[in-house]
Amino acid sequence: MKKDYYAILGVGRDADLETIKRAYRRLALQYHPDRNPGNREAEERFKEISEAYEVLSDPEKRRQYDLFGHVGGSAPTSESIFAQTVEEIFQSFFGGGRSSRRPSAVQGKDVKVTLELTLEEIASGVQKEIEYLRDEACSACRGTGSAERIPPQGCPTCGGTGQVAYRVGSGFFQQILYQTCPDCQGRGFRIIAPCAACGGMGLERKRHRQTIQIPPGATGGMTLAMREAGHLGPWGGPRGDLLIEIHEKPHPFFVREGESLIYETWVSYADLVLGTTLSIPTLSGEKVPLRLNPGTLSGEVFRLTGKGLPRYNSRKRGDLLVQVHVWVPSKVSPEEKRLLEELGRHKSFIPAGRRPEKGFWERLRQLFRNKAES
Ligand SMILES: [Zn+2]
Ligand SMILES: [Zn+2]
Repeated sequence: MKKDYYAILGVGRDADLETIKRAYRRLALQYHPDRNPGNREAEERFKEISEAYEVLSDPEKRRQYDLFGHVGGSAPTSESIFAQTVEEIFQSFFGGGRSSRRPSAVQGKDVKVTLELTLEEIASGVQKEIEYLRDEACSACRGTGSAERIPPQGCPTCGGTGQVAYRVGSGFFQQILYQTCPDCQGRGFRIIAPCAACGGMGLERKRHRQTIQIPPGATGGMTLAMREAGHLGPWGGPRGDLLIEIHEKPHPFFVREGESLIYETWVSYADLVLGTTLSIPTLSGEKVPLRLNPGTLSGEVFRLTGKGLPRYNSRKRGDLLVQVHVWVPSKVSPEEKRLLEELGRHKSFIPAGRRPEKGFWERLRQLFRNKAES
C-alpha cells in the first residue's frame, strides 16, 4: 500500500523544504524511541516519519515520489536516519551536527630518521635524498583492508558515525555524551573478511625515497618535521610526519660555539713579532685574509664578522673567531739553537716584567661578551 508521506509529516503537497524540516523535527522528537522506551507503536511511527522525511527532503526523490507515488530503485531505507539520536536530530538542523559526528580517520604514525650533517652543510643548507621504510596502501586490497569483493560493512552499533551517544541524568535536562564506538573503534565500519596480505589494516611496508631540503642553520639535536611524509594511516587515513633529527659531524678544524666558529692557527715567532697576513679558511671554502700587526701576542683572538654559522630561520650569522698561537718547535738543530741563544741576548727579547695588555682569558671573555650583545 502506498504511503502518503505528506500526510505522515502533516504537511501540504506544496510544502517547502523548511516546512518539511520543521515538521520532521517536531515529530521525530516526539516519537523517537529513546523518548518512548518499549513503545512499539511510537517506534513504527518514528520509522515512517524518518522514511517520509528522507524522501521529501531530497528534491530528486521527492520529484519521483510526486510523479510515480514511489521512489524508484532501492526502497528508501530509514536506517541511517533511524540511527540518529535525539540530540543528533536537534543538531542536524543547526549546521554541523551530524557531519561533526563523522568517524575520525586514523592518522598514520610518524617516521623518525637521523641525519648526519657536516658544518659545511649546516652553513649553506643542503638537499638530501634519504631512504626509509614506511607504510603504504596494501597493494593486495588497495588499502581497504578487506578481501576482494567482500566490502566492509557499516558498523550497526554506531550507524557508521564511529561514536555512540549515551545520556546522563534524567528528567527534562539530560546531558548527552559521546564516546568512541566500542565495536568499530571509531572507524564507523567493520571489516567482514580481512585482506590476507595485510591482515585488515590496509597497509604494506615499502622502501621510500624522499628528497628533503634542510635549511641553513640547523643544529645538532634539532628535529625537523616534514608534514605527511610518514606512514600512511590505516584504511586511507592521512599520513603521519617524517621527523628528521639532526646530528652534527665533528669538523676537522672548526669548533662550533653557538653560531660562532672557533679556529686555532699556529704562527712563527718571527711573524708575531714582525707582523704578517694569514689566510684563514671558512666554511664556504673561500679563504679570507687576516692581518697580524707587528707585536701580536700569542693567544690573541681575532673576529671575522659574519663568517660563522647562520642562525636558523634568520638572516643573522655568527662570527669566526681566530686564535693565534706561537709555533714552538719541539726539536731544534745546533745551528737553530745557536741563533736563538744569540737572539735571546738582545735587549728587546729579554722579558721586562708584566705587559700592560689584557691577559688572554680576559680577551676571550670580552670577545664572547660582545658576541652575546650583538
Ligand atoms: Zn591488504
Ligand atoms: Zn561503530
